Formats: sequence, C-alpha cells, structure tokens
Amino acid sequence: MSANTLEIGEFHWLFDVLQSLEVGLIVLDMDFNVQVWNGFMENHSGINGASIHGKPMFDFFNNLPRDWLEQKIGDAIALKTAVFSTWEQREFLFSFKATRPFTGMSEYMYQNITIMPLKSVHGGISHICIIIYDVTESATNQLGLYKANEQLRQLSITDGLTKLYNRAYWQECLFQEYNRFKRKPIDVTLMMLDIDFFKKVNDTYGHPAGDAVLRKLSETLKSHLRSTDVAGRYGGEEFAIILLDSDILKSITVAERLRKTVEGIVIHYEDKVIRFTVSIGLCQLEPGIPSEKEWLVNTDNCLYYSKKNGRNQVTAFGVTDMKL
Ligand code: GH3
Ligand code: MG
Ligand code: MG
Repeated sequence: MSANTLEIGEFHWLFDVLQSLEVGLIVLDMDFNVQVWNGFMENHSGINGASIHGKPMFDFFNNLPRDWLEQKIGDAIALKTAVFSTWEQREFLFSFKATRPFTGMSEYMYQNITIMPLKSVHGGISHICIIIYDVTESATNQLGLYKANEQLRQLSITDGLTKLYNRAYWQECLFQEYNRFKRKPIDVTLMMLDIDFFKKVNDTYGHPAGDAVLRKLSETLKSHLRSTDVAGRYGGEEFAIILLDSDILKSITVAERLRKTVEGIVIHYEDKVIRFTVSIGLCQLEPGIPSEKEWLVNTDNCLYYSKKNGRNQVTAFGVTDMKL
C-alpha cells in the first residue's frame, strides 16, 4: 500500500514508526519552525517533541552551524533534490554525546546528514526534512585506520635505532630538493658525516655501546639542525643532512659547531666512558651539478678528504684546498 492510499486514521502507526527510528528525523517549515521531531532527536537532545513543535529550531540550539545549514537547505531547495553531508566534511550537526562509547571511541556522535526538500500537495516546496545518521562506530573505525596507516607510514620512513629518516626516504627527499632547485635555485647544502674509528668503539666497548653512540649522535644532530633540515641515516654510522636556506659558508659554521659539540660529548655507558669524533663533508648545490647523485658524490669526496686528512674535521667543496 502506498502512503497516498493511507487513511487518516492509519497515520498514527506511521508516526510510531518515525518515532522509533534509529535515525534522527526533523521536519522544518520554511521559517525553520519544527514540525516533526522524532524519538531519536528527543532522546539525544533532551528536548521533547511537544516543547519544540512549532518553534524555531535555532532558538533551542545556539551552537548549530546556522550559516552552513541554511546554505545546505538553500542548495536542496534550489536543486529540488536531497543534499548530503558526511562526518568527514563536518563531524556533526548536533552536538550529541556518543551512545555506548567503548575504549578508543569518540565521546561525541559523528553524524551523516541528508537534507531533503518536501513538496506540498500543490507541488511547491513547503518543508525541509533533515535526517541524522549516527555513524560514530564506523567513523571511529575509519579514524583508527587512518591513524594506523599514518603510523605505518612513519615506521616505513624512519630508521629504528636513530629515529632519523631511513636511507630510502632520505634519498627521495634529496631527489625532490634537487628538482626543486632546478625550478627555483636557493641556497641548499648537503652534509655527510661519518663517525671516526667507529669499528674501534664496537670492538672496545661492544655493539650495544656502539648503538648508544649512534643514538647520542642523532640526538645531537637533531638539536643542532633546524626543523626544515632533512636528516637521514645513510648507512651504518654515516649520516646525510640537507641544509635548507644555507650556503656553504653558513653550513661550514653549522658543521664546525656540530663537530666541536661531538668532540665534547662524554657517554657513560655502564661503567665505561666513551668519547668519539666525526668527519664531515659539505657541498652547496650549484646549477652546474648535473644530478643529485653527483651532488652526493661531491659531498662524499669531501668527507673522504676529511678522513684522509686526519679525521675530526670539516671539508667544504670549492672552499677547502683539497690537496693531500
Ligand atoms: P673511519 O674513521 O674510517 O670511518 O673508520 P670506521 O671504523 O668508523 O669505519 P668502518 O666503515 O670501517 O666501520 C663502520 C662500523 O660501523 C662497522 C660496523 O660494525 C659498525 N656499524 C654499522 N652499523 C652499526 C649499528 O647499527 N650499530 C653498531 N653498534 N655498529 C654499527
Ligand atoms: Mg666511520
Ligand atoms: Mg662509514
């Protein structure tokens, strides 16, 4: 039987159905006066149908996004069709508490919303129907998934021991910086850093002590660099850093300060005292450098020179006289 054939007397059970629906159902007239306010709305708002009926909905909720809702209603009327809004676009329309919150679930109710224009018997739009769906559970699951994916992504680009970027991701950043430079040159310098005689640290104090040195060095790196610099663990005890907005002279200052700080570090590991030094190579990117690989090779050559020339020193491409 279609609704058109319902007898007036039969509407009472239709209202019973609307009352007990597990979705919010509101009907407003064109002045936003409430005509229908079902059980779901009563239960979650604490406002019963009798007290809100015939009155402007906005008088009862001062934190409703009125401009947004009026805009949506306007769209539904203009398009003569239902319009939707998901919790991802707007988390909720009515600020309701979540029902049955379980651990990790939101405290408030996420809502999907449908706004439907209703035609009068004369054919014109006379009322607006708003349907509120409680989607807290699926929204929470979805958010949990986003969070887990983000954590996985972080794990996939991070070196476990030092918490710096791992080699693969760092190389991707290097490639991007190189390409950015080709479009719009800026001062950007590459730094490569290698611990001196690290094998001896491992041999003398043991591998876990070596790990402690690597952790300490990466903390020192983080505290000496700017948040825009991109630091990665390039190999076992070799680190590579992209220094943004830093020409070769500024980079020499940064590298020297870092080198001296490292020289002064004393690590107390169990009952042992460990000191170590680092060698550093620097190369500023110039338009003549044909690829990011070449930029890396130039920097690595400088690091190699620092090693050959006695370690615990900084060598800068084009600045240091690199004759042995
Ligand atoms: P140089 O001054 O020429 O750089 O000498 P070195 O001993 O530092 O250089 P070498 O490349 O011979 O040794 C690097 C050592 O780093 C060898 C390897 O066992 C150690 N190593 C690499 N990764 C790790 C790590 O994750 N933990 C520890 N403890 N040691 C590591
Ligand atoms: Mg080394
Ligand atoms: Mg090495």
